Amino acid sequence: MQLRILFHRDMLRHNVRSNVEGPQRLAKLAAREDIMDYLPSVKRDKEELLGLVHTKEYIERIKAACRKGERVADVRTTPNTYAAALIASAISVDAAMDGDFAAVRPPGHHASASTEGGFCLFNNMAIASTFLADQGKKVLVIDIDAHPGDGTQRTVESRARQKGGAADIIYISISGEGAWPLGAVTRPYIARVHNNIVSLNMLVPAGAGDDMLAGSVSLAMHIALQYKPDVIGVSFGADGHQDEGLGLKYTERGFYDLGITLRQLGVKTFAVLEGGYHRLVCECIDFFIAGIEGRRYPYDAPNSISSQALWDKYNCAMKDVRAVVMGTGGMHQASELDIDVVL
Ligand SMILES: [Zn+2]
Repeated sequence: MQLRILFHRDMLRHNVRSNVEGPQRLAKLAAREDIMDYLPSVKRDKEELLGLVHTKEYIERIKAACRKGERVADVRTTPNTYAAALIASAISVDAAMDGDFAAVRPPGHHASASTEGGFCLFNNMAIASTFLADQGKKVLVIDIDAHPGDGTQRTVESRARQKGGAADIIYISISGEGAWPLGAVTRPYIARVHNNIVSLNMLVPAGAGDDMLAGSVSLAMHIALQYKPDVIGVSFGADGHQDEGLGLKYTERGFYDLGITLRQLGVKTFAVLEGGYHRLVCECIDFFIAGIEGRRYPYDAPNSISSQALWDKYNCAMKDVRAVVMGTGGMHQASELDIDVVL
């Protein structure tokens, strides 16, 4: 598998004064000679692509806010924001079709049909996955950002409900325990419609290293082997990296290993950038791609390792979820949304 990095400099003209989700995140890509401005090839109107997931009213509201330069969630918008968002979603769809890495901003995984969140206005991954699913493809989304992709999850669950449980997109999240948005995910759980897994949330505690990311990914792989997706989409957040300061201790090597693991499935894989605001975000992207492409890891760096106490805590919290995934049990309770929630 070969993943190109799809990127366009117009995405640097958005939120230019932010020292968090600002253009500096992708400045190293912009400086690289091997990365050109990518012009999306998808033959659909860009606004129409937003409409795959978002309501017309919501699109118009965000568009108007950008025109007026209003603040939306944590974004100080300008007209360039809307332009960047249109390119980001179109590039993400291209990445999904061809199996590439969409290095985009603004990110998307907190945005749902009619709500914004954090730095997210339009949900690039949900749009790209919906585009594929509408063509009859089965998509498995794995979100490894330190924060749960609550917007993606809501989109996927509502699609599954509409389809009466025949899930053509599954959402799996591996996020940090207690991460923003507070209350969105307070415990590991599985949501199912008519016994089909639609979403799975795994939570890793503060201090979790590469080994715990890998352990969580292996459970996701178990679902992938049963579900047999046509395509895997990775919501690639690099903010679980130890340099981010959010409490997780992943390293570049952990992202490389994630790539190696996905490669072993032999399923077409694409990725869309979510969070990650530290100085090594572009390196994390590079090493993840190196893993997927099966290249050798260039350094002699060890993985970060979680303590035994953390593993005990994680294993205890994940016990029921793991039992359901492995088909050995678990407690079920119907939620108010006709979704079976495994507690
Ligand atoms: Zn994040």
